[in-house]
Amino acid sequence: MKKKLMMIPGPTPVDQSILDALSKETVSHLDPELVKILKETLEDLKAVVMTENGQPFIIPGTGTLAMETALVNSLKEGDRLLVVSHGFFGDRFVEIAQSYGFEVEVLASEWGKIVEVEKIAQKLKEKIFSAITLTHVDTSTGVCAPLKEVGEVVKGFPETLFIVDGVCATGGIEERMDDWGIDILFTGNQKAIGAPPGLANLVFSEKALERRNSLGKISAFYMDVNRWLPIMREPAGGYFSTHAINMIYALHQSLKIILNEGLEERFRRHKRFALAFQRGLEELGFNLLPSQEIRANTLSTVLYPPDIEDLSFREKLYEDGVLVSAGKGVLAGKIFRLGHMGNITENEVVATLSIIEKTLFEINYNFKLGAGIGAAENILFAN
Ligand code: PMP
Repeated sequence: MKKKLMMIPGPTPVDQSILDALSKETVSHLDPELVKILKETLEDLKAVVMTENGQPFIIPGTGTLAMETALVNSLKEGDRLLVVSHGFFGDRFVEIAQSYGFEVEVLASEWGKIVEVEKIAQKLKEKIFSAITLTHVDTSTGVCAPLKEVGEVVKGFPETLFIVDGVCATGGIEERMDDWGIDILFTGNQKAIGAPPGLANLVFSEKALERRNSLGKISAFYMDVNRWLPIMREPAGGYFSTHAINMIYALHQSLKIILNEGLEERFRRHKRFALAFQRGLEELGFNLLPSQEIRANTLSTVLYPPDIEDLSFREKLYEDGVLVSAGKGVLAGKIFRLGHMGNITENEVVATLSIIEKTLFEINYNFKLGAGIGAAENILFAN
């Protein structure tokens, strides 16, 4: 079978040097080489989220484990949590919080829109919330939250921890943890970071660590950051739970790729690729779900024109060589989701749009052949 272009919003294509790192010899968790690599990886994670004094944690698991870890170290039963939800992954915080008996209040937007920042400010003034969650990019809707602006608001409420889900953003869209007042920022491996899935990567501010201490005993053992803290501060220091040794090698290489590209350059590249896809698809007669100002640079959520049927389009596109994802929940059948984050290149952008045009041509969709590619090339080559 021909190799397909995997243009889904995670997992994203993995660079060969990362796969090579993954296949290095497995050593003891106390091996000096592993200790050195883990220390560097923890420092590089801090660099990617732009924090001086944040405390990184690299824990075997995925994004969902990171979500749960963030909550369970920030609140105790009966504490109040404000969830700002822009879709499926925002709503997941509600389910996690309910399973621990936290008091949850939700500010939810219509899917494809955002909650206005003033509404968040107003809500925080009504009563004390122990924490607020915000999903930087909700992968179900392709909406990018105004992280910096919300951070400015939350700074005015010192009792409230600002928890940010960066799973679909970190390493692809700017996140200034210290400057924007973020207390817990986390991501997985498999999206803009560009590694295979398997790690939950979190960074806690000093305030978030103090909060954990103030909670005393919590309803978690593996997810208790205080149990991981000595090992993360001094990886040579002993054992709490076995590291995912080879995954750490992979993450180490992924973060090196990010920092070698340069954060600013990497964010600009993600924006350029997003614009190329979005203008190209608009030229082909598709609309994007979110309005321009709140569109994510990591994925696009693309509305179907009335004459295109979701499943048969995606199946044909896959046969032609490109894998994209279906819509979730209320958006099922109405959109497809196209990922464009991590370590993809211009070649993949051009090839994907070209194959989309081929599929559209073959299903007799009415459009001008080359229009999408032309619009994309104007952005890719002229900027
Ligand atoms: N948050 C967001 C924004 C996500 O996109 C995802 C996964 N797609 C998750 C959390 C959960 O991550 P995982 O699937 O790695 O558990």
